[in-house]
Amino acid sequence: MNIHEYQAKAILREYGVPVSQGAAAFTPEDAVSVANELGGPVWVVKAQIHAGGRGKGTFKEPQAGEQGGVRLARSMEDVRNFADQMLGRTLVTHQTGPDGKTVQRLYIEEGASIARELYLSALVDRGSSRIAFICSTEGGVDIEKVAAETPEKILTLTIDPAAGYSPFHGRRIAFALGLQGDQVKQCVKLIGNLYRAFTEKDMSLLEINPLIVTEQGELRCLDAKVNFDDNALFRQSAVSNLRDIDEEDPAEVEASRHGLNYVKLDGNIGCMVNGAGLAMATMDIIKLYGAEPANFLDVGGGANKEQVMNAFKIILSDKAVEGILVNIFGGIMRCDIIAEGIIAAAKEMDIRVPLVVRLEGTNVEMGKQMLSDSGLAIIPADDLADAAQKIVAKVKEAA
Ligand code: GDP
Ligand code: MG
Repeated sequence: MNIHEYQAKAILREYGVPVSQGAAAFTPEDAVSVANELGGPVWVVKAQIHAGGRGKGTFKEPQAGEQGGVRLARSMEDVRNFADQMLGRTLVTHQTGPDGKTVQRLYIEEGASIARELYLSALVDRGSSRIAFICSTEGGVDIEKVAAETPEKILTLTIDPAAGYSPFHGRRIAFALGLQGDQVKQCVKLIGNLYRAFTEKDMSLLEINPLIVTEQGELRCLDAKVNFDDNALFRQSAVSNLRDIDEEDPAEVEASRHGLNYVKLDGNIGCMVNGAGLAMATMDIIKLYGAEPANFLDVGGGANKEQVMNAFKIILSDKAVEGILVNIFGGIMRCDIIAEGIIAAAKEMDIRVPLVVRLEGTNVEMGKQMLSDSGLAIIPADDLADAAQKIVAKVKEAA
């Protein structure tokens, strides 16, 4: 789960991490009253969307001379104008995709004077099975670009979970960042607090880009992007409450409401599968035969009529879908029950794209017989390869 920058900063503040003063705003009036409270003389008006690259982003239907989603305001009039210009508009950044995201919230922050912009992040590193800190002197810019062009400018440091954080980790990061004197002390404290926040809140990613040194010589987190481990949300109710449904894919939200595991992808072949492993194998084999899956969808163990209908609805809500492959293994759930669900759903739903169904498992012959007796235009398949080849061929034929 992702949260907004202002929410992430509120969490970091609780952990004693230095961030600028600020508050969220939902209207231009809010923005002005927050700015009044902060005092000024410079404020930053920041679009809150679940994507980075806002500063360099562009709004759809741009107005003349317009800046991106992070703007420095030097007067109350600026604050009001910027808020007015950004709210309700669509911001496109290199992380949002071409559709962009609608700005519905702003964060108004006191402006900091920047001496240096650094990069710092922490993530769960699967390779080492540890939390890794990544830092670089090249902050404020695309870290992917730094990694590709000047990898020597990036330091990665992993933390042994048994021993935990110790000040020497912080010192190594401080030296890699070229910090000196009191800044080293600040860095040791900062990394310790970030590590505590990361582990206690079950984060999976924490990215501070930029971490700045102010002109007064203080370290401060100027941006904060946080992802949480979804599997830990059951014990993080305060975090769960920060969820902003507007930022999520509507089909994925709808799917999770029905207990379906759905992830939208870029292809044109919709997949309805039970079990995450079989779902991934199905996606792989579609690719093997030269097409792209439109989604990952695990209907779970109880693939009854309701679940199958919900799954069809969600798959078909994606306008890119030109064919559907149902691949279900009837283990606990019998194939005849699944066939019943598919037939009922297909009858009610008016599915206008080719539908290939591959069933395997308990009562498979009965299930197949029911599908062929149904009179519906369901294309039966015998195994995984056969199913993938058939749906890919059908979709190509229709195109
Ligand atoms: P992002 O573009 O989504 O990564 O948003 P950031 O919060 O990182 O802001 C983008 C850039 O705006 C930063 O890299 C800074 O250069 C600049 N910026 C953000 N806040 C301030 C501030 O308080 N003062 C100044 N001078 N620049 C800022
Ligand atoms: Mg940033």
